Parts: sequence; structure tokens; C-alpha cells
Amino acid sequence: MTELRGIGASKGIQIGKAFVLQSPNLSVKEYKVNNIDDELVRFEKSINQAVNDLEKIKSHVEKEIGEEHAKIFSAHLLVLQDPELLNTVKDKIKFEQMNAEKALQDSANQFITIFESMDNEYMKERAADIRDVSKRVISYLLGEPLVTTSDITDEVILIAHDLLPSDTAQLNRNYAKGIITDIGGRTSHSAIMSRSMGIPSVVGTTNATETIKAGTTVIIDGQNGTVIVEPSEEEIKYFKGKMEKEQEREEQLKQLINQPSVSSDGHQIELAANIGSPKDLNTVLENDAEGVGLFRTEFLYMDRDRLPTEEEQFEAYKEVLSTLDGKPVVIRTLDVGGDKDLPYLNLPEELNPFLGFRAIRLCLERDDIFRVQLRALLRASVYGNLKVMFPMVATLEEFREAKKILLEEKANLLAEEMAVNDDIEVGIMVEIPSTAVLADQFAKEVDFFSIGTNDLIQYTLAADRMNENVSHLYQPYHPAVLRLIKQVIDAAHAENKWTGMCGEMAGDEVAIPILLGLGLDEFSMSASTILEARHQIRNLNYEEIGRSIEDILNKRTNIEVESYIKEHFIK
Ligand code: PEP
Ligand code: MG
Repeated sequence: MTELRGIGASKGIQIGKAFVLQSPNLSVKEYKVNNIDDELVRFEKSINQAVNDLEKIKSHVEKEIGEEHAKIFSAHLLVLQDPELLNTVKDKIKFEQMNAEKALQDSANQFITIFESMDNEYMKERAADIRDVSKRVISYLLGEPLVTTSDITDEVILIAHDLLPSDTAQLNRNYAKGIITDIGGRTSHSAIMSRSMGIPSVVGTTNATETIKAGTTVIIDGQNGTVIVEPSEEEIKYFKGKMEKEQEREEQLKQLINQPSVSSDGHQIELAANIGSPKDLNTVLENDAEGVGLFRTEFLYMDRDRLPTEEEQFEAYKEVLSTLDGKPVVIRTLDVGGDKDLPYLNLPEELNPFLGFRAIRLCLERDDIFRVQLRALLRASVYGNLKVMFPMVATLEEFREAKKILLEEKANLLAEEMAVNDDIEVGIMVEIPSTAVLADQFAKEVDFFSIGTNDLIQYTLAADRMNENVSHLYQPYHPAVLRLIKQVIDAAHAENKWTGMCGEMAGDEVAIPILLGLGLDEFSMSASTILEARHQIRNLNYEEIGRSIEDILNKRTNIEVESYIKEHFIK
């Protein structure tokens, strides 16, 4: 037995066989070949292997995930039949005696450069297809076959260095019983995705992909952040017992479906869900969310290799709004940059990405991208109760500029005789201390606030949310953070506006009593924690906590606050 420790990112226990997702080393060297015919045969063979692979993946994805997602593989298969590309490679082998992998890499790059320079979305997509496909063929030529999440056809515990959005797009959620990664923290995107999919996960283990061999039995405990490799019979028995208890607890919590989220003395709040894609809607419905408090739209941009079109976005927003059937849906405009890269935008490398060109800063600069999203949102607004939210707002000018562009696009759509809901609230995320401090001024202009504590904590304590070396300084209950939160809620209430929270803190057992006492109106969290939060809130007394708030805010340290809450408000 080996035990690995990481960060519990999504609760739940699972026992299963490990599936290790490893990126092979695909660096290509050039050499002269002596036998040209043999090299041509080697090339043909790798093409056939790639075709076989892609056909298998395509039919698997079609069956398990949906035809829409399988289209990309049809496009990839077409690349493998393209005579122009294939002949260019063969000519290099024949006339330059170049080895097949180098010949393919050079030829692919030639085509990619031409297609990417064209001002045509379709050709740009072809460039991305060629890049993907040539990688697959090269992997065969080098004898390092690619493993992707679409190769998973059985129930497994998935082990990966990190999980990219493209990996999750191809993942069958019924097969991945648990996720373990080498890197990341509680608020890294693989953690957020596993929570929204309701799959137990442990992130930041440092060396899971090195330590765990494919096929070995693994126990994952997403609550405690532990991973047990090759457990003994006794350990398996112990964890099975724990799993049964968890299941019983889940069954009990189901009784709270359709019950109000109200404290024992009658103070009502809203419990909403955070989602990253329409695929998360099932968990939202199953857990009886009262709305969507954060739709992280960047995942629509990250699980592909080009910008999503207005139509694609419109369809996604429409699906979420209509499924929620009139319940509030807060959709956040694009938040990339920081740890969320969009390689196809070729954003400049930055020394401090979290303080750099991200989110609303990027959207205001690249308003061509921003306007497409706003049009899609406005068009979808007639299908439900849409609220638009801008991320990473640091100044009032940014909010005003973003809102101005939104209103311009609304006017454009109306001029095109398109229907737009007339009643869309426009709010901001409060994630930057300057905005929290100036909340009284912002509250006069915005319709609502949603506090993004994942970022607000890192900026307040200057402790990078991804950096394990400073994770002890990433303190959610630090009185400075709590005071900022109070200031934001009070400022909104003074202007009759509402405040939500969509950072992880909103679903945290220790934070919930404090946030309730501070008067937070909406708590938005991963759907799988909603019923647990409802249970907790129904057993808390709002008035009683209200009387303790001053004491709590006068504590001096994170740990003092935590101990106080545990002692007084957690049974
Ligand atoms: C936050 O910062 O709290 C937040 C919800 O946004 P993200 O985690 O996507 O940065
Ligand atoms: Mg944020």
C-alpha cells in the first residue's frame, strides 16, 4: 500500500482501477533514411493506425457523448485522406530522404501556417485539425501512442498531470469514477470541473502519474485528499463502509429537495449552482438548485481550438436558460487569462498572469470577441431569467465601458428586429479589493454583486491561489477578507441591491454561518454541495449569528475565526 496526499477537491469515496493519462514526449529529430520504400511503408502504417484509432474514438463518442462532439473526429479523418498533405510528406521522403516523422511535421507546419494566415474561420479550423491529427500520426511513428480520455471505455479512476477542458469534453462521466491530478489547488480548473461533474477528486498530489501504474487498484477520498494505491483487504473494507455511510447521508439529504433554504428563524436565502457547461445541468436539477449563480462561459472557449461562434454560444446559453425555466441564471462574460489560457488567441506570456491581461481587461481590448458573446447572450435572454455579470472589474470605468458595449449590441439587435429581454440585470463580480473597498460607489450603478472569493482572497492576502508554497496564506476566514465581504453586502443593501457569492467559500461549512449572519442573499456553489448547505442553513439561527457577527469580525486571525465558528455554530 502507498498513500498519496493531495488536496480534497471534490468530496466522495471511490475504489477502482487506475487509468493513467500521460502526455508522451513527441519531440521529432531529423535523419536521412536509407531505404525509401521501407520509410513509405512505415508512414502508411502509422496513417492506418491513426485512422483505426479515430474511427474507434468517433463511434465511441457518438454513442456515449453525442453526435455533435463526434464531428471533430470526422474532420480529423478527412485530414488523413487529404492527398495534398499526404503527397507533400511522401515527396519529402522520396526526394529528400527525410524520415517520416520529420517529413510529416514539416509538411503539416507548412499547411498550418498557410491556413492560419487566412482570414477565414473555416480554414483556421482546418489548421487546428491538421495540428491534432499530425500529432497522433507522429506518436505512432515514434512508438509513443497517445492516450486520451476518449479511450476510457470502462469504469476507472482517472490519473492525470492536470485535466484540460479538452480532456473533460471527451470524458464519459459515467466511466470516470474519480479524478487524481499531480498539480492544482481547490480553485484550479480541474478541481472546479470535477466538483461540477460531481466526481470525487484529489488534486495537487505532485506525483500521482509517476507513482500509480495503469490498472492498479486505487482508493480515492475526495473529502480528506487521500489516495491509497494497492490497498489491503482491510482498507478496502473500511472504505466500503465509509462509502455506504456517505450514500445513506445522500439519501437523507434528498428529503430536502423542494424544501426552502431558510434558517430556523425564517430568514430565506437563495442556493444556486456554479456551472461550466450545459452538460452540468443534470446535477443542477438533481440537487434542486434555485438558480445558476455562475455560469463560467470560458469553458465554451477552452474546449475547442478556435473561438465559439455566436450561434454556438447562443445555443448553449439558450439551453441553460430554458432548462432553468425562469429561475435566475447569472452568466459571466469571458474570463480567460490568469491560469486559463486560450492558446489560439496567442496571448502574450506574462510575468504575473493573475495581475495581467485577463477577463474584462481582455474583453474591452478585444471587443470583437466580447461583442459576439454579448449578442449571443442578449439573443438567448428571451428564453429565461438572464443576469449578465462582468468578471475582474477593478474600476468603475471598466464597468461603464462594458455596459455601454452591451447596450450598443442590444440596440443593434433591436435594429435587426431581434427579440431581446428588456429586463436583464447587469452586475459585476467583486474579486479585486479596490472594488470591494469602493462597493458603495459601484452599488449605485450595478444591479447586483457576486463576490468571487477565489480571487478576492488571493488578491487580499497576496497569495497566489495556484501556488502550494503560499497556500497557508490563502485564508478564507481572515478577518480582512470577512470585513471586505461585509462592506460589499452592506453597500449593496444600502442601495436595495442584492449580493451573491460564487467563490468556493459560499459552500464552505465554516463560512456559511458567517455569510448568513452578514446577510448574503445568494450562495452559489457546486451543485453537489447544495443540499448539504440547505441542511446546514435550516439548522442555523440567523438572529443569533447576527448578534455574534461583531465578535467574529473583531477576531484577529483566520484560525481564531475558524475555532469560534466550530465551537458555536457547527454541531
Ligand atoms: C472567483 O474568483 O471566486 C470565481 C468564482 O471565479 P474563478 O474561480 O472562475 O476565477
Ligand atoms: Mg475569479
